[in-house]
Amino acid sequence: MALPKKKTSRSKRGMRRSHDSVAIPNPIYCECGELALSHRICSACGSYKGTQRIAVKEPDAEK
Ligand SMILES: [Zn+2]
Repeated sequence: MALPKKKTSRSKRGMRRSHDSVAIPNPIYCECGELALSHRICSACGSYKGTQRIAVKEPDAEK
């Protein structure tokens, strides 16, 4: 197996890992007033871009 010639320095390791973190999702406010993710159907009212896309069950009816 090929081996690296030199130990990776703390600096180089950190530079590589600087892109490893997961991007924070971008929250927006839906027309219903709830926080939702952009480019996603609102989980509270089921609408997307002003049109009703999915039927939303009431939270207490689900469980
Ligand atoms: Zn909504």
